[in-house]
Amino acid sequence: LISVRGVDKFFGDFQALKGIDLDIHRGEVVALIGASGSGKSTLCRCLNRLETITAGEITIDGERLPEEGRELTRLRADVGMVFQSFNLFPHLKAIDNVTLGPRKVRGVPKAEADRQAMELLERVGLADKANSLPTALSGGQQQRVAIARALAMKPKALLFDEPTSALDPEVINEVLDVMAELAKAGMTMLVVTHEMGFARHVCDRVVYMDAGEIVEEGEPEQFFTAPRSDRAKAFLSKIL
Ligand code: ATP
Ligand code: MG
Repeated sequence: LISVRGVDKFFGDFQALKGIDLDIHRGEVVALIGASGSGKSTLCRCLNRLETITAGEITIDGERLPEEGRELTRLRADVGMVFQSFNLFPHLKAIDNVTLGPRKVRGVPKAEADRQAMELLERVGLADKANSLPTALSGGQQQRVAIARALAMKPKALLFDEPTSALDPEVINEVLDVMAELAKAGMTMLVVTHEMGFARHVCDRVVYMDAGEIVEEGEPEQFFTAPRSDRAKAFLSKIL
């Protein structure tokens, strides 16, 4: 579904991504892990063109990611993104955060958008908070609204960039549980995470990055119990 070939990314002289090759198949849930600064967020951002790439090619469902314009808006809507910092619109109620994209980008009429948004809020366990402003919600609730908002665009895939890193420990699991449900329902997901339990038990594959390169990838059990590369071994010995 997502294909990355030979992608380089430079920030000035600094090379943040070095010849990245990665395929994410339909329905697959991939954990992207690695030390701080290894390029995980940069790769995610390149996947929906929040960053331009310096070299290489990214295709989504067989279509090359365009540089700009209406095609880009459409392809970007196909690949939803959930950030560490939620980024909800503070002046909009939960339900209006969810309906904004479908109404503006997909042209869905308000009544229909509201109906779908209520279904999604129900799915993330927040039907009773539909009319709350983000400031009245806990971090975990805000992140679940952000997930509902991403789902409202009916994306083909979802990217998560450390969705639980900004959360208090006691609400991390409510977000991970929603993500695990999505995974079980067949959503294609790339998840940047430090939650190794999630990577190990929910994800189909682990991709380990270091210094802008994919160093190793494999099935979670294999990766966590018998990493092949010295860099992955060193990384795991630090965090496990
Ligand atoms: P973390 O776990 O801390 O989020 P990461 O793996 O997501 O780290 P990135 O944010 O992708 O790392 O950054 C990779 C490298 O690219 C870092 O060295 C960072 O300083 C650099 N970088 C990222 N964005 C920019 C930018 N806009 N301009 C210059 N350098 C950048
Ligand atoms: Mg990051």
